[in-house]
Amino acid sequence: MTATAASAAPLTDQQLERYARHIVLKEIGGAGQIRLLGAHVAVVGAGGLGCPAIAFLAAAGVGTIRVIDPDIVSLSNLQRQILFGTADIGRPKAEAVQSAVALLNPDVHVVAINQRLEAANAAVLLRDVDVILDGCDNFETRLAVSDAATLLRTPLVSAAVGAFDGQIGVWRGWEAGQPCYRCLVGADPERPDVNCADQGIVGAVTGTIGSMAALEVVRALVPFGEAAIGQMLIADFMANRFRTVRVSADPACPACAAESVPA
Ligand SMILES: [Zn+2]
Repeated sequence: MTATAASAAPLTDQQLERYARHIVLKEIGGAGQIRLLGAHVAVVGAGGLGCPAIAFLAAAGVGTIRVIDPDIVSLSNLQRQILFGTADIGRPKAEAVQSAVALLNPDVHVVAINQRLEAANAAVLLRDVDVILDGCDNFETRLAVSDAATLLRTPLVSAAVGAFDGQIGVWRGWEAGQPCYRCLVGADPERPDVNCADQGIVGAVTGTIGSMAALEVVRALVPFGEAAIGQMLIADFMANRFRTVRVSADPACPACAAESVPA
């Protein structure tokens, strides 16, 4: 028996083969794979960002994925929401995700929550998970997710796209000196929501950013390398450039300033 197989003893032969490309990585290995299989991740929004993110998380063997989305699949979603097929039109997205993931990986349990996440229910819907991934399409929900993540002390991977750009941030606002997502965007309730319906989007843009968000979730769970905590990775697909900007914690932030504890 090799050292790798010995350290991955609780994995079945099928799992050793399915996750072989993880297990061979020294950064993940059998121990990391076991951690992924035991992990619980919440994904807010099963749209253009959520679909590719969930696909990669499910393929990676993230054991439990809680999918929160109140919408049903429509024909115009299929241009980018790659977990769905034509036959899913009219089905609740969270349930259609459950069916798609069941085909992809029987190791993964999807908890489908066909409900709108709001400030009033966010802390309940997001409790008891290891990482939260936000790929929703509106500002109000993003703030509700961020505030709950800070309160619950759960790492938040937040992803967003514009027509030809995207942003990803990893937020741990309860740690001393660390900003939360609200520190970045403020609380302007009048900020207009621009979404794909108004603006248009290339499916591969949401696919790229959603996949990168999945990578940050896997990184947070295993972990490895350098997470972009308190930073925004900004992708400009028109100019084909990526850049990273550091975000400062707002000492007056109503969400994270009072929550901050020494790291
Ligand atoms: Zn904050």
